[in-house]
Amino acid sequence: MTKKLLTTSAGAPVADDNNSISAGARGPLTFDNFQLMEKLAHFNRERIPERVVHARGAGAYGTFTLSKSLSEYTRAGFLKSTGQETDVFLRFSTVGGGQDSSDYARDPRGFAVKFYTDEGNYDIVGNNTPVFFLNDPLKFPDFVHSQKKNPRTNLPDAARVYEYWANHPQSLHQMTILMSDRGIPRSWRHMNGYGSHTFGFWNANNERCWIKWHFKTDQGVECVADDEAQSLPSFGAQQDLVEAIDKGDFPSWTVKLQILTEEQAKSFPINPFDLTKVWPHELAPLQDIGKLTLNQNVKNYFAETEQAAFAPSNFVPGIGPSPDKMLQARLFAYQDAHRYRVGVNHNQLPVNAPRCPVHHYQRDGAMAGMPLANRASENQGAGVNFYPNDQKDEPKPDSDYAPPPLPLLEEAWVQSYNQDDEDYYAQAGDLYRIMSNDQQARLAKAVAGGLSQAENTVQERMISYLHKADPGYASRVAQALDSESQVTE
Ligand code: NDP
Repeated sequence: MTKKLLTTSAGAPVADDNNSISAGARGPLTFDNFQLMEKLAHFNRERIPERVVHARGAGAYGTFTLSKSLSEYTRAGFLKSTGQETDVFLRFSTVGGGQDSSDYARDPRGFAVKFYTDEGNYDIVGNNTPVFFLNDPLKFPDFVHSQKKNPRTNLPDAARVYEYWANHPQSLHQMTILMSDRGIPRSWRHMNGYGSHTFGFWNANNERCWIKWHFKTDQGVECVADDEAQSLPSFGAQQDLVEAIDKGDFPSWTVKLQILTEEQAKSFPINPFDLTKVWPHELAPLQDIGKLTLNQNVKNYFAETEQAAFAPSNFVPGIGPSPDKMLQARLFAYQDAHRYRVGVNHNQLPVNAPRCPVHHYQRDGAMAGMPLANRASENQGAGVNFYPNDQKDEPKPDSDYAPPPLPLLEEAWVQSYNQDDEDYYAQAGDLYRIMSNDQQARLAKAVAGGLSQAENTVQERMISYLHKADPGYASRVAQALDSESQVTE
């Protein structure tokens, strides 16, 4: 066997990696320690900015197998033939904590899937909940600030968390999910995933429908209680995933869709584009369309999981956005975050690179020219770098891929749209009412635990929202608050 030689990153053999070059045994180091300098300089740059949200995560590769042709609804090639397989990469994450936080925080979980299709990468950048705290993206940075650590103490601050929610009844539904048993999943394998937003499908006849993605865990939903969560190692979910896949116990999810025609959406009893609301199953039944299985761990955590760049704007022909206001802003914000933290050519990294040919007129930028098996890898080589051009073989757009035009449903005045009159209570109440007595009691205890630390006015407002959702929900939380105050008196 030939000896594997240690080299510099420029490929030159290294003679000694134990001892720096110094002027005599007790003398200072010299300037010709270029190997030491390269080593320290690279080390200084080992971290890229962690994600502001979803910093802590774990990822794995797998396969999506279609069990039912969807060509009736979409022209997307990977959703055409029953039995068709598409490679995927899935990254799970917690949301609020930094990279050193716990896998067992009471927090929503990210559930982001990249499908490497023949027509480009399709990303579903979802969560383990079907709804979100907000339906206007203008509020997102304030919301995240309020849920993170206190800017002075750098400690968690439940009073501020609830102060934000007391000012935003639209958060009540998601808050109820978060404070329910499902707020702390037992592992990445034991939770559902949801695309959460409404997306558009269009078929070969350019007919549009609206859809929602659901990924139901085949391992069963399992959760941990607050006490147990505190006793578990912070890396437990990461370890569970890696070990399960290493020993061939491949986790899977049954993939389902809810589908509404454009006509059904117009008369739907709730706004189908409001991210704070679900489509009730009774009104839009779930349809099984496939299975997603994870079967391969990453070879290098940083290269793959940390640099994975998911973007809700990564669509393929036949799938597009809806007027969901949160989704509209995410179409910009995610690519922007990747340009900042990974770089403008993040799509050239192997985990992000499409596995189909890539031809475009973008050029240059940091790290252009990764050695991949498509033309984007060579910075588009000698190709013409402007469009339109007169060259026969250079890439050209094809109007055949255009989505059907989207009519506006109402008189469209350009102005700020206030959504305060929406009903933000009914679906939180629906969820409360499907819970067992024990689940309701644990929900009330979890809400009261944080709410007890907030100002009285915040508590009063929250109780009034809970009352609108379900009077029983309000009275249980009020009782739990009383018990909390007796404990602290
Ligand atoms: P259904 O009775 O048809 O469905 C209830 C859903 O709630 C199931 O998907 C179930 O998931 C899920 N669920 C059960 N407990 C919890 C929990 N603690 N946190 C989050 N989800 C939970 O009812 P509807 O469709 O009429 O919806 C009623 C309420 O259920 C909604 O207001 C919403 O809060 C919640 N829900 C609805 C979903 C939807 O897409 N319609 C999706 C998820 C939640 P499972 O089957 O995996 O046990």
